Amino acid sequence: MHHYVSTTNACKLCKPLGASLAFRGIEGSVPFLHGSQGCATYMRRYIISHFNEPIDIASSSLGEKHAVYGGAANLKLGLRNVIEKYHPTLIGVATTCLTETIGDDVKMILHEYLEEFGGELSHPQIVSVSTPSYSGTHMEGYHAAIRAVVEQISKGGEKNETVNLLPGFVSAADMRYLKDLFCDFDCELTMLPDHSDTLDGQAMNDYPLIPEGGTRVDAIETMGRSLATIEFGRTLEDESAGVSLQNMHNVGLHRLGIPIGIRETDIFLSTLSKITGTDIPTKYSQARGRLIDAMVDGHKYIYGKRAVIYGEEDLVVGLTSFLTEIGIQPILCASGGKSGKFSKAISSVVSGMPWGMPEVHENADFYDIEERARELEIDLLIGHSKGYSFARKNNIPLVRVGFPIHDRMGGQRILHLGYHGAQMLFDTITNTVIEKKQNDSDVGYSYM
Ligand code: SF4
Repeated sequence: MHHYVSTTNACKLCKPLGASLAFRGIEGSVPFLHGSQGCATYMRRYIISHFNEPIDIASSSLGEKHAVYGGAANLKLGLRNVIEKYHPTLIGVATTCLTETIGDDVKMILHEYLEEFGGELSHPQIVSVSTPSYSGTHMEGYHAAIRAVVEQISKGGEKNETVNLLPGFVSAADMRYLKDLFCDFDCELTMLPDHSDTLDGQAMNDYPLIPEGGTRVDAIETMGRSLATIEFGRTLEDESAGVSLQNMHNVGLHRLGIPIGIRETDIFLSTLSKITGTDIPTKYSQARGRLIDAMVDGHKYIYGKRAVIYGEEDLVVGLTSFLTEIGIQPILCASGGKSGKFSKAISSVVSGMPWGMPEVHENADFYDIEERARELEIDLLIGHSKGYSFARKNNIPLVRVGFPIHDRMGGQRILHLGYHGAQMLFDTITNTVIEKKQNDSDVGYSYM
């Protein structure tokens, strides 16, 4: 007999939401959901609360009768409307629960559509991705969309000196940092996606229908000619955009952990140095030295503190790696993802470090995390803002990282990556611990 256990407050988001975020990082693109208007409204609302930026997500606006007769006509009509209104360079079509359940064959519908209209001048590229939300998380949707873009657009040809970077879902500040870093290495970069401008833009009198910025479609077309690909993520599926570029166009792949903390950043920079033949610029070795100095100065405040880390699998892996470096003990690592690789990835970043293996929960919801965290005597929570109610109830400080951050300004401007990101995280974490001690003290103190 099967016992059905319901999910309470899931620690993951909807799969096409991830695909929409990925498509938003391509220049001139419009994310398009093949599904009901409600899905698009929910996702827009959710994304806007984090980024404080407008985001349009088009939809084929399916209603009850389409659930019976299929949504082909609406999909075609919706595409025509989007092309007329937005003049996009690319439309990224993601399926939803409804269209996956009724079994719409989107590839075939798009084929028919392109036969009819695809020959028109200035017709945009259309990329489609299957994202049934009941079988995955927003991160799977995000990576699936990137893979679909690469597989459906990139071409091979004579090699050039460009390096492809597939950073995964990192913050806008992280993306800007990565672009600067490649500049400092004097290396041509194609980063896919890039929402550093499209989801963190400048104030304007008139908002353009499609925000400026994003990875250029012509750059994506030539990704098959690049020198190498660096892809972040220790829990990625065996199939990914990086693997497709390798298989389709013979572009050498370097899969690394997200560069959070010292060791993961060391690996990233030495890999890039090897690929480009350029020494690591002094700016980065100096930042590394400053970080170690700060760790020496601050470790007495945080050494041995017990932390729960939750959120997207690869982010949790990177943060866990970093926390062990600064003497914080990861007690529970939890994620709504279920790649099957989470535990192994955590084990590889804590190996050789003082605290040993933490408890690891995949496919977790907040109910589980709270139940367990209550028993574990925790000093600190590290994750997105959905942990706030638990933090408040139990008077445990929460350090906000990742996505979504719905109760603070500037989630998109948190820098997590590289030595510089680690420095910011270190200061934030240490000051959070100090603040808690001050608040709990009867007399307070003002000098350390
Ligand atoms: S119905 Fe499915 S696709 Fe739509 S918002 Fe809900 S989980 Fe996402």
